[in-house]
Amino acid sequence: MDRIVVVGASVAGVNAVETLRKNGFGGEITLVGAEPELPYDRPPLSKDALKTGPGAAPAALQSPEWYPEHGITLRLGQPAAGLSAADRQVTLADGSSLRYDGLVVATGSAVRAWGQSARTGPVRTLRTLSDAAALHGELRPGRHVVIIGAGFIGLEIAATARELGLDVSVIEIEAAPLARVLGAETGRWFAELHAANGVSMRCGSRIERMERSGGQTKIELSDGTGLTADVVVAGVGVTPATAWLARSNISIDDGIVCDERLRTTLPGVVAAGDIARWHNPLFGHDMRVEHWLNAVEQGQHAALSLLGSDEPYTHVPYFWSDQFDAKIHSVGITADADTSAVRRLDANGISVVFGRRGLVCGALCVNSPRDIAHYRQAIRNRTPWNDLVPR
Ligand SMILES: Cc1cc2nc3c(=O)[nH]c(=O)nc-3n(C[C@H](O)[C@H](O)[C@H](O)COP(=O)(O)OP(=O)(O)OC[C@H]3O[C@@H](n4cnc5c(N)ncnc54)[C@H](O)[C@@H]3O)c2cc1C
Repeated sequence: MDRIVVVGASVAGVNAVETLRKNGFGGEITLVGAEPELPYDRPPLSKDALKTGPGAAPAALQSPEWYPEHGITLRLGQPAAGLSAADRQVTLADGSSLRYDGLVVATGSAVRAWGQSARTGPVRTLRTLSDAAALHGELRPGRHVVIIGAGFIGLEIAATARELGLDVSVIEIEAAPLARVLGAETGRWFAELHAANGVSMRCGSRIERMERSGGQTKIELSDGTGLTADVVVAGVGVTPATAWLARSNISIDDGIVCDERLRTTLPGVVAAGDIARWHNPLFGHDMRVEHWLNAVEQGQHAALSLLGSDEPYTHVPYFWSDQFDAKIHSVGITADADTSAVRRLDANGISVVFGRRGLVCGALCVNSPRDIAHYRQAIRNRTPWNDLVPR
């Protein structure tokens, strides 16, 4: 193998190129990215970088010198537009093409836009450095920001905006934040955390009408109440960024379909990060994970797979979130659990464990890092639900 192309210059893509070089691949490597900036990390964009402005926060994944020093050719600000598996060729938006012997697909997630128009006024989203710069400029003390969606990104933006001195309202269609994936009790705990810090939580309501007038947006809710926003932000999820692969014949099913080794259905093509749906033997089913640590480890693993490794990728999903003084950690899978138990619940935190088909499958812990390490090990060991040692 002489030429490897990595499409998607973020966490998964950069970890893939690092691993290729660390493991002795001496051929050509080209890293293709749609965004113009050097590859950077996204988690700070809703936390420190949103507070201080992205310019002040060090988020670059590697220094500018690192790429030439390691013989990596960067094609940034240049989205891939198509893939021809028959010719082993990636076409870029400028019409140029790159031939490959091995290809890593790491194009991650695209943010779900909120339908906006001249009548509704601007609705911001947060996925990229430029989104963070634009939103930071809008978050001025005393203004009222309305956040649509109480998922993790929405709640982090809410916490950061409160810390910046804004009035904050969060609109959520479910009865409590995160309740669908983490259960009602956990949802209530998050609602109380935000309410205690001055966020107005508008759960169980949907937007009926939005209208821009005099530099503000008037929002009517299904419960008959209304809000007037200076800034509106939507945090309503992401979708796998697969549009450029539409005519490639690669198998896509809510992400790129991969086997246990992260190989796609096309020869010489592996996938990693938010975009990859792979068969995880540890859980016995297919999954796609939108978390930072998975992007790191999967980028590394996909690179090794391309170099010939036979190891299956047996990852225990993990993510963290920071909201006010709460350090939130989650492991495993919680969304499709058939049982759960609250193991700790007080003003300072909550620990909830989840089970599926008789095994421990997930946990969420707030302000208790030792609990999370314990539950992570239990999931890795496929511990029966009834044998779980309480903490
Ligand atoms: C604001 C924010 C906060 C987050 N906080 C946390 C957190 O606290 N904890 C946590 O675990 N996770 C967090 N995440 C999630 C985490 O950042 C993602 O899981 C991770 O970035 C996924 O990495 P990736 O490389 O797979 O994809 P992405 O980061 O989505 O990167 C994909 C890259 O591919 C590029 N691309 C897309 N299409 C093309 C194309 N056609 N051609 C070339 N390039 C293309 C994109 O521009 C992008 O740079 C956060 C995400 C966001 C947005």
